[in-house]
Amino acid sequence: MMSEQNMRVVIIGGGPAALTAAIYSSRANLDTTVIAGYQSGGQLMLTSDVENFPGFPEGIMGPELMDGMRRQAERFGSKFVDADATKVDFSGRVKRVFVEDDVYEGEAVIVATGASAMWLNLASEERLRGRGVSSCATCDGFFFRGKEIAVVGGGDSALEEALFLTKFATKVILLHRRDKFRASKIMQERVFNHPKIEVVVDTAIDEILGENKVEGVRVQNLKTGETREINLEGVFVAIGHRPNTDIFKGWLDMNDKGYLSVVNESETNIKGVFVAGDVYDYRYRQAITAAASGCKASLDAEHYLEALTGEPAEILTAQNW
Ligand code: NAP
Repeated sequence: MMSEQNMRVVIIGGGPAALTAAIYSSRANLDTTVIAGYQSGGQLMLTSDVENFPGFPEGIMGPELMDGMRRQAERFGSKFVDADATKVDFSGRVKRVFVEDDVYEGEAVIVATGASAMWLNLASEERLRGRGVSSCATCDGFFFRGKEIAVVGGGDSALEEALFLTKFATKVILLHRRDKFRASKIMQERVFNHPKIEVVVDTAIDEILGENKVEGVRVQNLKTGETREINLEGVFVAIGHRPNTDIFKGWLDMNDKGYLSVVNESETNIKGVFVAGDVYDYRYRQAITAAASGCKASLDAEHYLEALTGEPAEILTAQNW
């Protein structure tokens, strides 16, 4: 018979969802390996002050929060691999996760590979990230109190961020490359009628201006070709996120945008494979909601493994059952 201590969990991902899952799994005495990726820490490594994670009244730096979560998981025995998972094989009850030629096996796998914000891919945007350029209004909006800013995009995210940012900014310019919006009609109505929001259509950002902080943008009207400069102090890029799910294609069900689908809470279409965080939750995308779903995925994995402990070891370790 296998005991629960023999049970192995492989967690793929390095953000708050993965690290919270690791804390819970290793604390439940499961043999826990985290394939944390080259950019261990996830999207929070790109933010500065996190002021809305409960328990830190003065705020905490994103990387520091992630480092704390990781050390907490290591304290209970989680092992870390700082490389990207390159392939998976979920055909047997023992799941296999590959990092190039190395194989990590687990009776359960938690997928928490997150999503990456899409960027405009301008050199000035990269240089000024965290210095006025952001991809997260909830995280950084507070720093733009009393300032004029721009939001880029025409989907629900961009319009939602524009509305949210009116709480802080004196003026929000919504820049969209077309004159049709993907966002829901109700969001469009709210944005178009908001006294603090100016909507500028058919327009793309050519360059973000400023040496060490954002001082303006140079934009181009895509219909007339005309360019002009606008003085402002912040640029929020809200042109969508891309879930990191390429290696799961053919194994896990996903929607047309690549976000993983769940059949029940954190369970996927494959027994023993669970999900947590932004890789399936495109709605909330917060560190705290990702952490909460990491906790749930770990508890679900634990229950699943408990049910397996009655099974004979040779069946458990056999590849195709
Ligand atoms: P999205 O719907 O894919 O919209 C992305 C927007 O960014 C589009 O307007 C697109 O322009 C623009 N864009 C893409 N690449 C660009 C580029 N390189 N330069 C300039 N503009 C670019 O993404 P999303 O707004 O993040 O929404 C994702 C999903 O989450 C959607 O299903 C949405 O409904 C949902 N969501 C729901 C809520 C809510 O219900 N409260 C909130 C947020 C998101 P084009 O239109 O020209 O392609």
